[in-house]
Amino acid sequence: MGFPANSKILTVDDTGTMKKIIKSLLAQLGYNNVDEAENGKDGLYKLKQSKYDLVFLDWNMPEMDGITLLQEIRKDPQLKDIPVIMVTAEAKKENVLLAIQSGANNYIVKPFTAETLKEKMDKVWQQIKG
Ligand SMILES: [Mg+2]
Repeated sequence: MGFPANSKILTVDDTGTMKKIIKSLLAQLGYNNVDEAENGKDGLYKLKQSKYDLVFLDWNMPEMDGITLLQEIRKDPQLKDIPVIMVTAEAKKENVLLAIQSGANNYIVKPFTAETLKEKMDKVWQQIKG
């Protein structure tokens, strides 16, 4: 079991290429209900406009970075339960720790395959539904 195919997913990343890659990998996995945000600020705005089942959150972004958005999400009574997978270029131990402490459900290091993406998503699904 995993996220249903009609799950509404938000990708927050300041890099167009990365958004395209995630969108295409998600499409390979059968997820086509994917929205995009440019940075943390835009992401927060979109999360408040509409209900999402899962968020992929880039770490380094202008305006508001991923870890700040994650902290904002976890503070907000309306948003706090949304599953968040952090996406980052490096797997530094202190970054992983900070992400987990800030409430990330999982962590994925660029570059990654559809298989890794699915693995992480299934883990998060088990975490929230199991
Ligand atoms: Mg970035």
